[in-house]
Amino acid sequence: MITPSFISTVQELSHRLLLQESEKRAIERVVQVYPFRIPEFYAALMNPENPACPIRLQAVPSAQELKAGGVPDPLDEAGIGVTPSFLKRYPGRGVFLVSSECAMYCRFCNRKRVVGKGHAWEESTEETLRYLEKDDEISEVILSGGDPMMLAPAHLAHILEGLRSNKRIHVVRISTRFPVVFPEGIQDEHLKAIRKHAPIWVITHINHPKEVTGRFADVVRMLREAGAVLISQTVLLRGVNDCPHILSGLFERLVRLGVKPYYLFQLDDAQGAQHFKVRLSAGMALMRELRKGLSGLCIPQYALDITGGVGKVPLEPTYMGKRKGNSLVLRNPAGERGAYRDDGRKSRCHDCGFCREDKTG
Ligand code: SF4
Repeated sequence: MITPSFISTVQELSHRLLLQESEKRAIERVVQVYPFRIPEFYAALMNPENPACPIRLQAVPSAQELKAGGVPDPLDEAGIGVTPSFLKRYPGRGVFLVSSECAMYCRFCNRKRVVGKGHAWEESTEETLRYLEKDDEISEVILSGGDPMMLAPAHLAHILEGLRSNKRIHVVRISTRFPVVFPEGIQDEHLKAIRKHAPIWVITHINHPKEVTGRFADVVRMLREAGAVLISQTVLLRGVNDCPHILSGLFERLVRLGVKPYYLFQLDDAQGAQHFKVRLSAGMALMRELRKGLSGLCIPQYALDITGGVGKVPLEPTYMGKRKGNSLVLRNPAGERGAYRDDGRKSRCHDCGFCREDKTG
């Protein structure tokens, strides 16, 4: 069992942070709409005197969450459920919502309309596993929610068992914020389940270098030893990490620990989170800055989910310029110009036969 050690009332919070009366009243109003929970571990990372602390901004409710703007379900997830707990947007992969609870309710969450609000996704676990037996397209499943690590280890083990016994499912990912916000919540039994079904891809959601703690490093090591492959996702957040020094510090630290930065997400158009939105042009400029100095290993894909469920697209500044005959002009991230002789021959099918082979094995 997870030992509860969370802050979930304004009174508890006011023992750790300097809060004005107006802030306390604002938090009380926000928590009527969106849930609030901060693990003690994460709260200890906050600067109690600085309202602009990047850890605090991610965790403490703000009156800005009640301002107009955005849409409740920016990715139109309500329209793509094939069971109450399985979302299928793309043919080959889908999202299995295994828990509606999180260790911390991040203030920028794109599922803040549903997480922590008592959705009983867990009740349709068997229905989803049965559905996956019949779906002959899905080969990759992403466990999400909520946070899958909120599940009792036996329940997580049961889901992994069910997925691994399905011969069509080759890749299983677990998307979690636990290593960052509640590392003590990852128990030996969780690791045992992961070890039994390795390799399991673990995507840890992390947004700031201050979140790369000693405990985070320990959990990364334990997960790796259990056979997990570790990658990360980060949300670009105004006032939290919209700075090249912060992002490069984060990505370099992750790579040092053996975690590959995978995605940097542009904020979804989620209601209640719009105060965190950074302009796309600023995001592009950040990517250019990162590419100037960082190794390719440290660079995640900057991406955006198009509002309305249209899907995910990569965002990349273009480095290609004009073409003169076969000569293509390019600029490097620092803006220096060069050329490439683009005179390769046309691609064509060589009839090797690979496209006709069975690729499911
Ligand atoms: S842990 Fe994930 S699902 Fe839960 S509130 Fe944070 S971002 Fe949302």
